[in-house]
Amino acid sequence: MSLTAALAYARHGVPVLPVHTPDLTGACSCDRGARCERSGKHPRLRHGLSEASTDPSQIRLWWTFWPRANVGLRTGVVMDVADVDSAEGWHGLRHLLGGDIPPGPQVRTGSGGRHLWFRPTGFGNRVRLLPGLDWRGSGGYVLAPPSRHASGGDYRWIQRPAVALPPGPAPLVALIAGPPPEPARRPFPAHPGRYAEAALDAETGRVADAAPGTRNDTLNRAAFALGRLVGAGLLDEAEVRWALTAAARHAGLGRAETRRTIRSGLTAGRRQPFTHRPSSAA
Ligand SMILES: [Zn+2]
Repeated sequence: MSLTAALAYARHGVPVLPVHTPDLTGACSCDRGARCERSGKHPRLRHGLSEASTDPSQIRLWWTFWPRANVGLRTGVVMDVADVDSAEGWHGLRHLLGGDIPPGPQVRTGSGGRHLWFRPTGFGNRVRLLPGLDWRGSGGYVLAPPSRHASGGDYRWIQRPAVALPPGPAPLVALIAGPPPEPARRPFPAHPGRYAEAALDAETGRVADAAPGTRNDTLNRAAFALGRLVGAGLLDEAEVRWALTAAARHAGLGRAETRRTIRSGLTAGRRQPFTHRPSSAA
């Protein structure tokens, strides 16, 4: 029962949010159905992550509306999560850590990857720390057992949480603290939906970690870049807005300034929609 699990996470202080559910054919419970590129992975709430809650009566109410909701957990509060989505990512992580995988909680994800839980590092999300390895920190969320993946697989515990979470291993934290990787120069992303999702994570991570003096500029650039993806129909405007708002709040930007900057960045970006036509350049 996903309600029982959701209440248990909340009891341990982890903010919970109800997420859309894929049906047996992999189609999403949202309005886009089979056309949804993030089937069973995006929040059911209008304001998404910012509404995540540990209040049991709120959680019961959500699960009364959506008994089969996937269980999303906000990261950066009780735990950060290393998100390994391929064999390459797993080998890369083991190599980075000298072969030692710390003995903390581990989830087998619905797509066959792994989530490793650590104490919060204070950093935001990082996309492609290594090939096949992302980091979910402040401003992020992960799916948790017993959620279901569009492929039909379930999220299951390999190793359940015990008393205390291990700290993030030093080589991993050093990688997270480093500068974000340069975006690959590709004229045309093979999977526009996934590209847009990765851009959302990368931009919000940059905003969440922006130093005072660069915060408003970083937010403006992020809003512009994501506005182009909204304009191309690859991202949902409401989702972009809440993700940027949560990241800006984490960075310490004021409410009014945040709202103003996001609005102007998004508007300008939407006027120059990201074009996913293949480039004719050789
Ligand atoms: Zn959907």
